[in-house]
Amino acid sequence: MKKHFVILALASVMAIPAWGQRNFQASTDTFEESATAGQWLDAPGAQAALPAGKKAKNVIVIIGDGMGTAQVYASVVAQRGLSNFLRFPFSGFSRTFSNNRYTTDSGAGGTAIVTGHKTDNNHIGVLADGTPVKSILSMAHEWGLSTGFVVTSSVLDATPASTYAHVPYRKMFDTISLHMSQCGFDVMIGGGLSNFRPENRKDGLNPLDTLLKNGYEITYSLEEMKKSRSDKLVTFFCENYYGPVAPGRDPVLVEGTKKALDILAKNPKGFVMMIEGSQIDWGCHNNDAAYMEAELADFEKMLKAVLDFAEKDGNTLVVVTADHETGGLVLKGGDIEKGRNECKYITDGHSGVMVPVFAYGPGAETFSGIQNNIDLMPKMLKAMGRKSTIK
Ligand SMILES: [Zn+2]
Repeated sequence: MKKHFVILALASVMAIPAWGQRNFQASTDTFEESATAGQWLDAPGAQAALPAGKKAKNVIVIIGDGMGTAQVYASVVAQRGLSNFLRFPFSGFSRTFSNNRYTTDSGAGGTAIVTGHKTDNNHIGVLADGTPVKSILSMAHEWGLSTGFVVTSSVLDATPASTYAHVPYRKMFDTISLHMSQCGFDVMIGGGLSNFRPENRKDGLNPLDTLLKNGYEITYSLEEMKKSRSDKLVTFFCENYYGPVAPGRDPVLVEGTKKALDILAKNPKGFVMMIEGSQIDWGCHNNDAAYMEAELADFEKMLKAVLDFAEKDGNTLVVVTADHETGGLVLKGGDIEKGRNECKYITDGHSGVMVPVFAYGPGAETFSGIQNNIDLMPKMLKAMGRKSTIK
């Protein structure tokens, strides 16, 4: 019996296509129709890959902050066979080390994923020597595609900042907020309003005014966000950071994602979007398994919305990965029928292990195998039929 579980774990995390195809369901089936909770041996596994050679019109890069293979498997178990991670036809691993550290932080990790460049820890959108480097979102914006991000941390936090800002230190929030107000992305959703208020800034500037002058509607709650008719939207859900999802945080990740998709998908040229499940990392930093699992459940809902969109659209590449693992999580045991994990953390910091990569859509097959985190962005460009200028 024990041996069986080991094989299942590998198949689930690596989503080996041959395994997945054994129980392949017609792509018109919804995921819910093709699996029921507890169907471990008959879990549908990966859906079919789209035809090779097709270009990706849209790219959605999803970062589970701190989400290593153990975190993913904890979610697969917790979802009792209905995990959205099982819907990806291709998967691989990403090596996360930074330019100057065995173990990366979110600044260097996010920068590597979205710009294709290694940098030192704490840097955002710049090389170790301070040279600015462009993210795939900034490039897409210049090409006339729509762009946006949704996060469950502050919009100024390291991961979202790496899509638009260029600073040598991740806590330079005054500068980062100025860069955000001028980046031109179409949709930006997260926390962090307080850093935009002139009274809280050393420079006394007002980037909220800049956002308004640049044509954005700014909304301050889930309800306002849903009601907005604007195609240039910034939503601040809170002054600084959201609380954990478990005690009753609004469903900002899934609802923010759906809203962003509504807006971004209007562009006939396509879009590039980044989504971050930011607090998987925080739960793991706290060595709090319940916190981590609640954030993973929230992440699953967002994944479902994204994959449902991508399946219907047919032209969207979805890449899910992590900037690093957090907590050195070990799953000592648990109960698969009950969806319960026994979690043990060996650190309250990040670890240096490889993290998983999952891909769906045109170009997804190129994300198999062990890759460097800086390989991900050039592969996304290639999937879009764009030339990578990264050496
Ligand atoms: Zn991180």
